[in-house]
Amino acid sequence: MAAKQKTFCIICGKERNGIGVKNDRVLEGIRWFKRSVTHNESGNRLVVCKECYETYKKSKKRFDSRKKLYLVLGIIFAVLIIVVGKSVASILFGIVMVLFLYSFAFFSYVPELALGAGPKQDNKTVAGTAHI
Ligand SMILES: [Zn+2]
Repeated sequence: MAAKQKTFCIICGKERNGIGVKNDRVLEGIRWFKRSVTHNESGNRLVVCKECYETYKKSKKRFDSRKKLYLVLGIIFAVLIIVVGKSVASILFGIVMVLFLYSFAFFSYVPELALGAGPKQDNKTVAGTAHI
């Protein structure tokens, strides 16, 4: 039953070795969803291959700044709603608005790498790396 685990690059989608992706809450959520809802958890290990490392760095940067932008937008909206509404309901609505906008950024989610440093740890299985 123990089929050899495959290692896929999250950028090019090819079966490659590379730096492991850090297991975080978003990936855990996706895995939970696959396991309990769609029942197609593949157990593949996620990495970023050497060729895609530069692309990964760029999209990670883009994702981080987008996350900040949406958070700032959400807070501006929330403050406006609370100032205009001046009620408990408007405060709640404001909070929902922040979360709603913030979650938008995650449509282009880019996970952290397990090691953070450069692509020198090829072919090593790191504890806590993500499997999807
Ligand atoms: Zn790649």
